[in-house]
Amino acid sequence: MSDALLTVAPQRWALLALARLRSLWQRWFLWLLLAVLVSALLVTVVWLAGRHEVEQVQAALDRDTADAVSDLRSGFQRNAQSLRATQAPGADRALWPDIAASLLREHREWLRLEWRDAALRPLQAVNTPYRMRILDEATRGAEQSDVTLACAAARKLGAPAYSPSHYVPIAGGGGVEVMELCVPIDAGGYLVASYSLRDALIELVGPTLTRGQEVAFTEADGTRLVALGTSRRTGTRVFTSQQLIDLPGTALMLRVDGWRAAPDLFPNMLTALVTAISIALVSVLVLLARDTRRRLRAERDLADALAFRKAMEDSVITGLRARDLQGRITYVNPAFCEMVGFSPEELMAGNAETSAAPGAPSAPEAPYWPTELAHEYQQRQARRLAGGMPPREGFESVFMRKDGTRFPVLIFEAPLINAHKVQTGWMSAFIDVSEQRRIEELSRASQERLQASARLATVGEMASLLSHELTQPLAAIASYASGSLNLLGPHAKGDQGEVAMAVRRIAEQADRAGQVIRSVHDFVRRRDRTREPVAPQALIDAVLPLVRLQARKLGVIIEVVFEDKLPAAMCDRTLVEQVLLNLARNAMQAMDSPDNVGSRVLRLRVARAVAVGGTGQEDGRRWIEFSVADLGCGIGAEVAERLFTPFFTTRADGMGLGLSLCRTVVEQHGGALVFEPNKPRGTVFRFTLPAAG
Ligand code: ADP
Repeated sequence: MSDALLTVAPQRWALLALARLRSLWQRWFLWLLLAVLVSALLVTVVWLAGRHEVEQVQAALDRDTADAVSDLRSGFQRNAQSLRATQAPGADRALWPDIAASLLREHREWLRLEWRDAALRPLQAVNTPYRMRILDEATRGAEQSDVTLACAAARKLGAPAYSPSHYVPIAGGGGVEVMELCVPIDAGGYLVASYSLRDALIELVGPTLTRGQEVAFTEADGTRLVALGTSRRTGTRVFTSQQLIDLPGTALMLRVDGWRAAPDLFPNMLTALVTAISIALVSVLVLLARDTRRRLRAERDLADALAFRKAMEDSVITGLRARDLQGRITYVNPAFCEMVGFSPEELMAGNAETSAAPGAPSAPEAPYWPTELAHEYQQRQARRLAGGMPPREGFESVFMRKDGTRFPVLIFEAPLINAHKVQTGWMSAFIDVSEQRRIEELSRASQERLQASARLATVGEMASLLSHELTQPLAAIASYASGSLNLLGPHAKGDQGEVAMAVRRIAEQADRAGQVIRSVHDFVRRRDRTREPVAPQALIDAVLPLVRLQARKLGVIIEVVFEDKLPAAMCDRTLVEQVLLNLARNAMQAMDSPDNVGSRVLRLRVARAVAVGGTGQEDGRRWIEFSVADLGCGIGAEVAERLFTPFFTTRADGMGLGLSLCRTVVEQHGGALVFEPNKPRGTVFRFTLPAAG
């Protein structure tokens, strides 16, 4: 088992951890997403700004390069024209060297000017005054390949053409990159100018371009031929722009290398601004997140407090109800709903009707007010709403449940004051005191019973005293009666016979009175009573004369019914006769009312019974059931409840002991005394006695 626990516990723990992780993830997911998005935006914006700046720089460089190319192109063109002008038709050839020399002074990019014939043989040549002589006649024959190439192209085009550049070494070391320009002249022959490419860059390209960047002519594969300008500073980024200068006969590649402090994280104002805004954004986000967390915590605390309050309201057994100043119910707790049996919706349903008529003077009627008291309650409430009652009080009232039953409640009412110290209504607490009242009632009843028992004990004492005191006079009556009978003699006739008869009756009744007294005495003293088998008929016959006496007076018809072959009943005959007499008397008294005239029938019936006390169970013994039925007023529920209570009576002259004693007698015989409504009206009292044998 512990192994099982050990394996289960980590699983549960893992599940719990997983659930916690999931809730954490759900809570933080949006924030994480937002942070990622903002960072991505930030990085993108910074990157774009950087790229924009790079593009700007590159574009500026490209512009500069294009300008330089166009400068170069137009410079070369102008120079070619100037060169051609030295051989204007009709000009004096002898003057050419002077013209050439002056031209060379103006154009530092030229190293040497030559005038060659159609076979490219040099006729005349002038060198630049700005340099030591690099090119001389020895190296510049007719077969010189660069010049040949340029002039062949020029001839073909009929216009100035250029040779590819070539390197001319200088005696002391180093050398010059040279490009030949060949201009065909009308008279036949060519004018050839040798360009120093480095000087061409200095002269033909604006000086601003070489400031802060390197300008170079390169070959197609990127090899620098000549370069000009600042060399690269470390820690800077190189921007390169190159463009082709397409010249007749050759092509030159112009390359411009610019250096900028490489666009770092904050390359310029724009990016700095964007970054600042982004940082502000992130800060706001962080503040927002903190604020949200605080709010969430506050919400959680509030929810906890609310849940606690609700749990408290739900678990108290005191009913709570709030009403506004118009008397409309605004809140009820579950205990109140349970008390009155109405749902909160049903209790607040009445509000709608009242709110329709705001000026209504009377307060709304609550569904739990007993109908008969509604008016009184309404007045009470109106008085309270008008401020005519003390603010705090505890009073008892009666409410009605949904099923119509009434119950007592204790009410405590107090004004409902809000946070601004303004009264917004009334708050009431209710305690259902029905259980309390029931217990009080029970103790009152048991008190009464105790008193009754005490009185009963006194009555018992009195009865035994009376029986003791009455024995002597009764014995005297009996002996006087027998003495009188002896005096009259056994054969008395006429009036004397009548007197003898009356005296005999007196003796009989005195004897009977003596028996009754003895039985009562025995009963009170709880002595063993003499039980004997008595025929039911004998029991009925013994009481019938007395019953008939009263029946005649009240106009009651008596019916007696016996079942066939009844066994004898085992009983104390005197007491059972008293029971029969008592029941018959009660029955006749119940029929003694004016509206009963003509239908006053008393029915005595004796039959076998199988069960006792209405339990419906056979116990093997045989029983005889006596029933006394009347067509009287019947017994109401209230009377039925207390029927067998000693001293309970509805009659002014009643003692209220009859039925109580009857039941005691029957129960002492082992039987039961019950009653039920008779048909069509009245009551039937039945009691059972055990059959003899
Ligand atoms: P008492 O006869 O002195 O009033 P009982 O104990 O005999 O005392 O009866 C108690 C009450 O029971 C009577 O007051 C009467 O109201 C009621 N009662 C008894 N028997 C009947 C009956 N047959 N029909 C209607 N009410 C009866």
